[in-house]
Amino acid sequence: MLKTDKFYHSTVSSCDDDSLSLKLFSALDRQCQKREDICQELGDIEHFRELAKAIRNNALSKLDSCLSQFTAKAQENGVNIHWAQTSQQACKITAKIAQDNNVTEIVKSKSMITEEIGLNQFLKDQAIEVIETDLGEFIIQLADHKPSHIVLPAIHLSTDDVTKIFQDKIGYDGPPDPESLTKAARKYLRDKFKSAKMGISGVNFAVAEQGLWTICTNEGNGRYVSNKPDIYLGIMGMERIVEDIDHLSVLLKMLGRFATGQRITQYTNLTHGPCAKDGPSQVHLIILDNGRSDILASKYRDILRCIRCGACLNVCPVFRNIGGHIFPGCYSGPMGSVLLPLLLGMEKAKNVPKACTLCGKCTEVCPVKIPLDEMILELRNDASQAKMGGIIEKLSMPIGAKVMQSPFLFSTAQKLMRLGLKPLSKSGWVKWLPSIPGRWTKVKDLPLPAKHSYQSEIKRKGSGPKDE
Ligand code: SF4
Repeated sequence: MLKTDKFYHSTVSSCDDDSLSLKLFSALDRQCQKREDICQELGDIEHFRELAKAIRNNALSKLDSCLSQFTAKAQENGVNIHWAQTSQQACKITAKIAQDNNVTEIVKSKSMITEEIGLNQFLKDQAIEVIETDLGEFIIQLADHKPSHIVLPAIHLSTDDVTKIFQDKIGYDGPPDPESLTKAARKYLRDKFKSAKMGISGVNFAVAEQGLWTICTNEGNGRYVSNKPDIYLGIMGMERIVEDIDHLSVLLKMLGRFATGQRITQYTNLTHGPCAKDGPSQVHLIILDNGRSDILASKYRDILRCIRCGACLNVCPVFRNIGGHIFPGCYSGPMGSVLLPLLLGMEKAKNVPKACTLCGKCTEVCPVKIPLDEMILELRNDASQAKMGGIIEKLSMPIGAKVMQSPFLFSTAQKLMRLGLKPLSKSGWVKWLPSIPGRWTKVKDLPLPAKHSYQSEIKRKGSGPKDE
């Protein structure tokens, strides 16, 4: 049997799940509409996209000095700074902080970086329980699912699905409506906030000049996590820095608009340092590399501009059909197709950039103008240069290239294909093919090649298509 990877099989089964794409389409359409409406208020959105791009490029071009300035200032403010080269190191530092303070229960705000490093599982293995407090993350933690979207982690679940999960996991006996479910989650989480001695969150942006950082949430849980427990730990990717407050204000404006269609997120928390009288007495911050230095030095450094708004996922025709669960990491959609091969290594994620139509909608919408489609194409090229394709790909691509470069071979191949497919077709469409070509018909029908080529039709009729 031909060897295919898990990513391929998961993609095929997700394509078969019509209810998934229906849920994704309606939720993502709403997100796109909200973004378009609110962005209109800014007038010349291109001006703001250029500005945001320049701000992120500026920080990346002087990342060393921004990080030095930030850490010096944060330490002055009383923050314990920890540097982690790898996921493993970041997890170990977190566990040590918890163990040194006899912490067995941690409340956590939504954070993609903790998903990236597999923090929950690591802490669980050390007998430390982590409770997700963002509603979407809380739901998928109860269901034991992965996030399916970087901003909307439970987007793949309907209200009925959530009701069932709550009934099974937290003994919910109320009606299946979002308001009652939210109230039940709030009640459950309030008790956890009260008892947990330690809180963890990700970091949206850190500001070099002041040595402070932001967490943006819409539920207020980020504020609880960073203020209520006695110990607070933030974990940030080393690229999430900006030079000053003015730059921060532009990025906050873009993040709210492009992520959730809001002028600004409901709660924008600025953390400055410990405050024993009215906040945590210990504040820690882990600054994580985990491959980012290599990306910075590579031709893919533009991806480090990403502000994790999720807008590229919302417009992606592939993501809208298959969701984020099939991706071999926590990032998905166009940004995940670029980031995952870079973070996990091409060997583990070489097929991810192939799940793209190259329509370019992601690049059109990105608030920091990352050329996602060009990068995806470049990653495919890298995989091909490194001869990572399977045997079929290695044999068929050079033949395909030869055929497409020769009009004679191309039209002959088309005729042969029509001859071969005709007996399997019905009303001009082939719905089933055996073996490897059957991978195509498993997810979509194949049109029978036309009897006459476009060029020969023009010659036969004596004119081309009429202009409108
Ligand atoms: S790549 Fe651009 S659109 Fe996609 S999440 Fe990042 S900033 Fe948003």
